[in-house]
Amino acid sequence: MNMSAISKNWLLAAIAGSTLVLAGCGKNPAHKCEGNAEAEEEQEGKVGDLTVEQVLRAKCPHGLTIECNECRYEVGVVKVDPSLIQPAKGATTSLVKTLQVAKSQMTTAVNITGEVRMNENSAVHVTPRISGVVRAVYVDIGAEVTKGDVLFTLDSVELGQALSDWEKNLAMAELSGKNFQREKSLYEKKVGPESDMIEAQMKHEEYQIALKASEQKLHVLGLTEEDVAKINPNNHDSHDSLSGALAVRAPSNGTIIEKHAVVGELVEPGKDTMVLADLDSVWAWGGVYERDLGLVLKRKLADGIPVELSVPAFPDALFRGQMNYIGATMDEATRTIKVRTVIDNKDRRLRPGMFCQGRILITTDEEVLAIPKVALLTDEGVDFVFTHMQDDYYLRTNVQKGRDFAEGVEILKGLAPGQMIVTDGAFILKSDVLKAKMGAGCAD
Ligand SMILES: [Zn+2]
Repeated sequence: MNMSAISKNWLLAAIAGSTLVLAGCGKNPAHKCEGNAEAEEEQEGKVGDLTVEQVLRAKCPHGLTIECNECRYEVGVVKVDPSLIQPAKGATTSLVKTLQVAKSQMTTAVNITGEVRMNENSAVHVTPRISGVVRAVYVDIGAEVTKGDVLFTLDSVELGQALSDWEKNLAMAELSGKNFQREKSLYEKKVGPESDMIEAQMKHEEYQIALKASEQKLHVLGLTEEDVAKINPNNHDSHDSLSGALAVRAPSNGTIIEKHAVVGELVEPGKDTMVLADLDSVWAWGGVYERDLGLVLKRKLADGIPVELSVPAFPDALFRGQMNYIGATMDEATRTIKVRTVIDNKDRRLRPGMFCQGRILITTDEEVLAIPKVALLTDEGVDFVFTHMQDDYYLRTNVQKGRDFAEGVEILKGLAPGQMIVTDGAFILKSDVLKAKMGAGCAD
């Protein structure tokens, strides 16, 4: 005689809609265990496969249905004290939680490990446009600079030549302008010939063109409009002239991550003097295993493939980003394909060089009925959950599980959207059933 035999008799009654009273067992002197139930095992469903209607129709040996404290476990019913579902005094969460089952898109997580690197698309190598000797350096490594900040200045023969050309053309343009005005006035007073005026006008225009060209040369060498305005001797407002020095400016916002420029050093175009990187975002490089590639490629980069990252320095933090590159070749040594994720780093917590763990999140196209893993229980190889029946009663309901997702387990059979199930604390209900079995059942 075993436990399931009793259940089968009880259940048989439930299914038939009649009342079967078993006699004498354990604490109940009138309850007598019978050994003939095995024959019926094949015909009837097991605990967990009964519908609510079948369970409610059943009568236990005491003439009760689910209300019987001794017998309800036999049809898979557990009574949950409402206090377990309410948070205890001073607590924010309850021991037992319920959830309404619904279909939604699910996520498969593909694990990757990798490294945080600089966002190379945002890195700028600073190189002077002309050769010269470094006169002064204004920033140190690690400095945050904004576009236009002076990084260092150069003494340059080439710039000196260009500046003197420009100054000469500036003077000539002014002079020729005055001459033209004079000739024009003479001509208007009819004391000068028209040809002199025209000649003066042409000269003036010539010098203006030359001035423009030499100013253009200064811009090509790296001087801004402001720089030119400052060295203009006609501008008396601010005359802190760079006096022949070329200011090399930050081409964009960023952090100085490399610095090679040293005072007195000769630098020339093409030579790396500084590297500026915008650390507002960083790249996380990771490797996807060959077996996971098919899953990752189901999603288009353009649609956005979300990735979550964690680093040892901040074990509780989750850094989110979008994958923006999947490698075209596989690394033969590691059998992985390189993928790259852009991660926001405005708070500067991620540093190039850090190792990271990541999860690529691939969502399903279809909506899937899935439940949290904690809700799924197993008894003798059968998966089940507790569904809400009525009032404080919950019913063991056998289910067939499908795929594993990040959010939980797919349920193929046994649950429908809208049903309430027990999630956190489901194990308490299970042990309740087992405890009841120990105390009230017929032991062999
Ligand atoms: Zn009973």
